Amino acid sequence: MKSLGVLALLSAVVAVSLVPAPATAATERPAVVEKRVIGHSVKGRDIVAWRLGDPTSSTKVLLLAAMHGDEKGSVTTLRTLRDGRPIKGADIWVVPVVNPDGYASNRRQNAHGVDLNRNFGAKWRRIRGATDSGRRAFSEPETRAIRDFVDEIRPTHTVSYHQPLDGIDIRDTGDRAWAKRLASRVRLPQKAFDCFSRCFGTYSMWFRAKHRRGAVVTVELPRRPSAAYLRTVAPRAILGSLGAKR
Ligand SMILES: [Zn+2]
Repeated sequence: MKSLGVLALLSAVVAVSLVPAPATAATERPAVVEKRVIGHSVKGRDIVAWRLGDPTSSTKVLLLAAMHGDEKGSVTTLRTLRDGRPIKGADIWVVPVVNPDGYASNRRQNAHGVDLNRNFGAKWRRIRGATDSGRRAFSEPETRAIRDFVDEIRPTHTVSYHQPLDGIDIRDTGDRAWAKRLASRVRLPQKAFDCFSRCFGTYSMWFRAKHRRGAVVTVELPRRPSAAYLRTVAPRAILGSLGAKR
């Protein structure tokens, strides 16, 4: 009987250990309603989009960070949105790392040496050097992944986060009132960003040309934002500007 008791105990232990762990997305990340791999980088890294908030909301939002791999501040902001409490009042997709190869090597460009924010198909032009635009528009897997995802989800509002020019460009956004609300909440000066001279092939240019009903804003964080700014001010700013909250 004693050995049978030990056997029973052992089998109970085995049974417990075979019970699958509960889905962690719901318990560890209560704000997340969906996770999708929307494409892969040149080196095969996943490009991950996380859906937060209310999928039935008519406010469809896409937030993009680290299109330039060495601009890491807003990655913290988007991960804070992802990892916090549930969000109400908007259907929000975040892509914290658009350029995972550049992020891994702390480099602006992707693994082909291309500046992804010059590779989109609007006024694309061949540029070489630090802002290499690629062999042709959408030559890079990262920009194609973003293009296809945007064409599918059709955001009403999208933000392209960058660093370190310390400002927000509210010209030609498609929704000036929202852009001004965001500028004041994110506590950044209103500036015009002209890509060092003139812009070609940027995400925001392409979005405005292709998705005329949507609004797009480029946010340039300061060079050294505080952790409190990235984890509190910036996430609250985007939610508040959209009438969403957590
Ligand atoms: Zn940038």
